[in-house]
Amino acid sequence: MLSTQNEIRNKVNIENCRKDFPIFNVPDNENLVYFDNASTTQKPHKVIETITDFYCQNYSNIHRGLYPLSLNATEQYEHARINIQQFIHAKSNNEILFTKGTTEAINLLAFCLSDNHLKKGDEIIITILEHHSNIVPWQVIANKLGIKLVFIYTNSDGDIDLEKLSEYINNSTKLIAITHISNSIGTINPIEDVIQMAKRKNVLVLVDGAQSVGHMPIDVQKLNCDFFVFSGHKIYGPTGTGVLYIKEEHVEKLNPYQTGGNQIKTVTTHGTVYADSTAKFEPGTPNISGFLGLSAAIDYVNTIGFDAIMEHENDLTKTILKRLNTFPPILIAGNPKNRSGIISFNIPGIHPMDAGILLGQKNICVRTGVHCNEPLMTHLKLDGTIRLSIALYNNYNDIDLFIEKLAWVQDLLSRQK
Ligand code: PMP
Repeated sequence: MLSTQNEIRNKVNIENCRKDFPIFNVPDNENLVYFDNASTTQKPHKVIETITDFYCQNYSNIHRGLYPLSLNATEQYEHARINIQQFIHAKSNNEILFTKGTTEAINLLAFCLSDNHLKKGDEIIITILEHHSNIVPWQVIANKLGIKLVFIYTNSDGDIDLEKLSEYINNSTKLIAITHISNSIGTINPIEDVIQMAKRKNVLVLVDGAQSVGHMPIDVQKLNCDFFVFSGHKIYGPTGTGVLYIKEEHVEKLNPYQTGGNQIKTVTTHGTVYADSTAKFEPGTPNISGFLGLSAAIDYVNTIGFDAIMEHENDLTKTILKRLNTFPPILIAGNPKNRSGIISFNIPGIHPMDAGILLGQKNICVRTGVHCNEPLMTHLKLDGTIRLSIALYNNYNDIDLFIEKLAWVQDLLSRQK
């Protein structure tokens, strides 16, 4: 009974949640179709108000002052860490590092591992589905240290080859860095299988959760990954916030990435002893308001609940795919076994950029190009795609408007030929 009531409440919430996002209430944005959520999401009132309230009523620095304003700011900031810890089911708040975003989190990790753990002759496995930010940092340290970077490819559907992955793991393999969800074709990777495979051989695993964390529940303990990263702005939180989860056993072993104040036990004229906790990775004054905003975004997602979010986003995804498939000449990139609400496609004879500009003129926001996935595009023999990606505030009206304007674009551009 209770669960039915919750289901009804959640359904009502998700249908009404668009009004929680002020951008959709601006008169000029009445027919705004925002389908660029893989790039960044819109912000609910709750997040904006949390940030404004902090600056208007409670602002001060953290971890330093002993006056009430500062103590209160510190308490809120550390509460945000616990909230995020619980959200991804980490064992301890000492496993949650605050960063500027996914990109910084991966760079931080690459630097720390290159400093402490990796050496010449080691191998790192990544997949062809990775965003540039989960390729370039590994290329840099591979070149610097003489490490071999091994790519796992997908079939034409966009699914990675698990057998190949298992063959590629050898005694030199030190790390597998893999995206949870492809940011351009929507593949949901079988990360549970990948992690199990890696753990049998004592290999560390980093999961790039930038595209999953806002769309499905994450349990880093159940996954048993060593590292998990995400960006706050892709889960209705502010830009300039990100998280690096580090399994506790690794926290102590890694040296800091940057150095300065707020991360130390003692500094003398002879040297420095760093803090034992994650504080050693967070020198300097952080983005305090940003993490309060991210915590508010997580509260917002929690009140709606992933059951409702996943059901709604799955229904929308199926509908979009069905409508696109009845749009005769459209070619959808990939057909993964397990997919998210990120869909890439092309209309033969029409450049994705032309389509993107024209759709933009009709208030339809989609992304066009290679989506920071150039190696994947090359592998799939694509120059680029039109990508739409959904979030909890999208609805069926968005799909109708999108399909209507897409037909207009197609008609207009084919008549010009
Ligand atoms: N990884 C994936 C899978 C992404 O989709 C993105 C952003 N598109 C990133 C990493 C980088 O995130 P950010 O720009 O927030 O650092």
